[in-house]
Amino acid sequence: MTTTVEYDAVVVGAGAAGMTGALAAAKQGLRTILIEKAGKYGGSTARSGAGIWVPNNEVVLAAGVPDTPAKASTYLSAVVGSGAPAARQRAYLDNGPATISFLLRNTPLRFSWMESYPDYYPELPGGMPNGRSIEPAPLDANILGTEYANLNPPYLAVPAGTVVLAVDYKWLALIARHPRGLATATEIVRRYLELSLRGQKPITMGQALAGGLRAGLIAADVPVLLNTALTDLYTQNGRVAGVWATTADGEDLLIKATRGVLVASGGFEHNERMRKQFQREPIGVDWTVGAASNTGDGIEAGARAGAGLELMDDAWWGPMIPLPDGPYFCLSERTLPGNIFVNAAGNRFVNEAAPYSDVVHIMYDKHTAQVPHIPCWMVTDQKYRNRYLFKDVSPALPYPDSWYSSGALHRDWTIEGLATKIGVPPAALRATITRFNGAARAGRDTDFRRGDSAYDAYFADLTNRPSPCLATLDLPPYYAFKIVPGDLGTKGGIRTDARARALRPDGSVIPGLYAAGNASGAVMGHSYAGAGSTLGPAMTFGYVAGRDLAQS
Ligand SMILES: Cc1cc2nc3c(=O)[nH]c(=O)nc-3n(C[C@H](O)[C@H](O)[C@H](O)COP(=O)(O)OP(=O)(O)OC[C@H]3O[C@@H](n4cnc5c(N)ncnc54)[C@H](O)[C@@H]3O)c2cc1C
Repeated sequence: MTTTVEYDAVVVGAGAAGMTGALAAAKQGLRTILIEKAGKYGGSTARSGAGIWVPNNEVVLAAGVPDTPAKASTYLSAVVGSGAPAARQRAYLDNGPATISFLLRNTPLRFSWMESYPDYYPELPGGMPNGRSIEPAPLDANILGTEYANLNPPYLAVPAGTVVLAVDYKWLALIARHPRGLATATEIVRRYLELSLRGQKPITMGQALAGGLRAGLIAADVPVLLNTALTDLYTQNGRVAGVWATTADGEDLLIKATRGVLVASGGFEHNERMRKQFQREPIGVDWTVGAASNTGDGIEAGARAGAGLELMDDAWWGPMIPLPDGPYFCLSERTLPGNIFVNAAGNRFVNEAAPYSDVVHIMYDKHTAQVPHIPCWMVTDQKYRNRYLFKDVSPALPYPDSWYSSGALHRDWTIEGLATKIGVPPAALRATITRFNGAARAGRDTDFRRGDSAYDAYFADLTNRPSPCLATLDLPPYYAFKIVPGDLGTKGGIRTDARARALRPDGSVIPGLYAAGNASGAVMGHSYAGAGSTLGPAMTFGYVAGRDLAQS
């Protein structure tokens, strides 16, 4: 038996795109409902670092960031090029600031500038070496009441008794090297004490973002049905007029939508079949850190309703270490000095400190049967181990045994011994390290220009000379971490226009159907402008869709 209900707008997926879209629609006066497949809301958004790249929003302007619409537009078009239509890029920049202002007015979310986190290509015209990204301020989870228990957990929990912001990681990694490392470690505890003494339960990053959006929906009285999965779109007289869904109890629902449907059900990172169909080998579902419930359901339903798909071959890539408890997104560890990436021939092939998406594009581009680049290896030494935090392992402490037994990490007292363990030619690895050490001593990497961009120096060691990005590998034992092409989620999906309306392959609009976030083709095209390039557009086009539904 099917239960039928009717609303003005139905939103599918309780991540950043869906929750922003549902709130925008509700604030336009539409009777709005949101359905979420998982038993928890928040999707990848709740797992994320919650950096948000939205140029010219009121938070960055108030912080004194010298952004202008002209700079942002020049920069975005330099980064994205023809990877996404100019009209979509314009719509993103035009509506992004209003989206952030809308969230400030209609949710408990507050944001701060991620000071000095550069755009990912700061040297391009309009690029900002000090950055224009923002992140949520700590949020008091008490405001969520019992709904806090339904928030999807973070990818990495912050240590108990601390309040950690995304911008803190740069300094925490340097705790053994720079006075600000210790100061930051003290500050994250002080923040916790201050907020908990006030009776707060502080949450940060993706937890704060998803929690804050959910709190906005609670205040606006928008129902969020957990354990309720879209199975197909409901069409009537050539327009999308609702969704078919099933509940965890197996009940079938037809939720009619007089204005239309926003598909914001995330990417297809956990759908093996789709990954094999659309993406380059080797690929699977084991190297992603996106939410497990993101299996491309909305994208496939959109395609069945006639939508064109785009950018399906791409993802928000990042080099991962396949640790036994799941893939680890290797960020500061990769850009700190004293490591190199080598392929199966024992040669460097990339600027290790380049933006994460670029590093994986290069891994795939250069991968051949003759010279595999997947996996590749991050080679380091004991000096690097003594200096820097690695994941949650403090400087100088041994890496966990399970990392070795799982094959994610190897160690040897000689370079040749290490090479043998990872199956690369010993003489080649020795030659590569010798050459790299020369570059590190000179402070200049003429091979791959590591350290030439201000971006490379963000997660680097300011105390290291002559370059904060380059250090010799010369203190045994030597280590090699396995590196695979992981991702934060996929970035291809339903093709949309500047109003977030779904388009057929011929460019015509499918009436009643909208898409935003990772269920839609990314406005970033094949690139990644700065920290927050997935969440910024997800929220912005969710907002655009929510408002457009009211006008439709
Ligand atoms: C560890 C990590 C760190 C990250 N850090 C950042 C960062 O700092 N900045 C940034 O911009 N991006 C970051 N990202 C990426 C970012 O989190 C995602 O790209 C973004 O959250 C996608 O938002 P979304 O709303 O499209 O999807 P999600 O937030 O994934 O939400 C989609 C929701 O749809 C639901 N759903 C799926 N299928 C159905 C169905 N059939 N019916 C109903 N619901 C369904 C899912 O369960 C999910 O809850 C990070 C990601 C991870 C994993």
